[in-house]
Amino acid sequence: MDPSALRPVKHLYIHVPFCRHKCGYCDFNAYAGMDRLMPDYVAALKHELAEARFRFAFGSLATVYLGGGTPSLLPAGLMRELLAEVRRLFELDPGAEVTLEANPASTDEERLEAWQEAGVNRLSLGVQGFDRRALAVLERRTDGAQAVRAFRAARAAGFANISLDLIYAVPFQDAASWRHTLRRAVELEPEHISCYCLSFEEGTLLFRRRERGVLPEVAGDIQWELLDLATEELATAGYERYEVSSWARPGRQSRHNTAYWECRPVYGAGAGAHSYATDGRRAWRWWNVARPREYIAAAGEPRADGEELDERKALAEAVMLGLRKTSGLAAPPGFEAELAELEAEGLVSRAGDRHVPTRRGLDLHNQIALAVL
Ligand code: SF4
Repeated sequence: MDPSALRPVKHLYIHVPFCRHKCGYCDFNAYAGMDRLMPDYVAALKHELAEARFRFAFGSLATVYLGGGTPSLLPAGLMRELLAEVRRLFELDPGAEVTLEANPASTDEERLEAWQEAGVNRLSLGVQGFDRRALAVLERRTDGAQAVRAFRAARAAGFANISLDLIYAVPFQDAASWRHTLRRAVELEPEHISCYCLSFEEGTLLFRRRERGVLPEVAGDIQWELLDLATEELATAGYERYEVSSWARPGRQSRHNTAYWECRPVYGAGAGAHSYATDGRRAWRWWNVARPREYIAAAGEPRADGEELDERKALAEAVMLGLRKTSGLAAPPGFEAELAELEAEGLVSRAGDRHVPTRRGLDLHNQIALAVL
């Protein structure tokens, strides 16, 4: 990879891996009980960002995304310090989207004020649900009332762009409880809502519980019923589904996530973070060491491994990811057979010179991925 031939990076992801407690379904790179590492971790992040700044060509940043883990757990002072360093090292577009993932339990007035002052202008609140039973199954230690309080406090602090994350197809969840969650979410009038289908990832507590028969399987037809319900309820409330799992008010799509779906270069800093670079033909992906202690010890050189994608593979990924968005993509030459097959199956249709996923294609995007990759 010749850094001078790469397209400039305009999107920055920063991973904050700390959590109060590990939720039962979570297979993210997240750790409970390591809060004492936070100051050293932020110092290591600053070190990595400074190294990256000189190694890669960054354009003015269009988006910055602090994900986790639970970035909202960082004490206000450390978050201020981290974002001040981002602004010192990088230029940001006027109006750049700066998102922070927040857990309702660590969204308090002091932190909200610090995030505002540090230039965070979009919050992604990990609500997951408003139904006690579903939250208990997920081993979430927050409840609906706390989520509502956090949302209102964020609005009062001046956040005009808030997204809520919800999870469906949780064992024991039925249409009535999911409708209740959707309606409570919509009542808050967030700008964006993501609905993720629960997956049982190997190694998680939830997976082990299902293996032991403590939790029931969720039947495929219930998943579809709940997804249909979300699509109806959110459309009625004025949210447009613009991606497989994402609904937004007009103009409030996530610009950072859109960068991933459009295969634009993203630099990922922090433990386990992934980066993507391209010269317009080939692409490169690499990732950092996952454990916070190893990351801190790596002293600004945290890369663990990576891979090069040849032109065909890079294009296949672009087609697969582009077809996650309802706006689809102008498909590059070389995928005519795959796209014709997807059209014949009713998963993709044409809109002028673009290929777009049908409603069925959005719901069954894994079949598009299988056909294209
Ligand atoms: S808060 Fe999020 S990242 Fe942390 S353990 Fe729970 S699901 Fe995982």
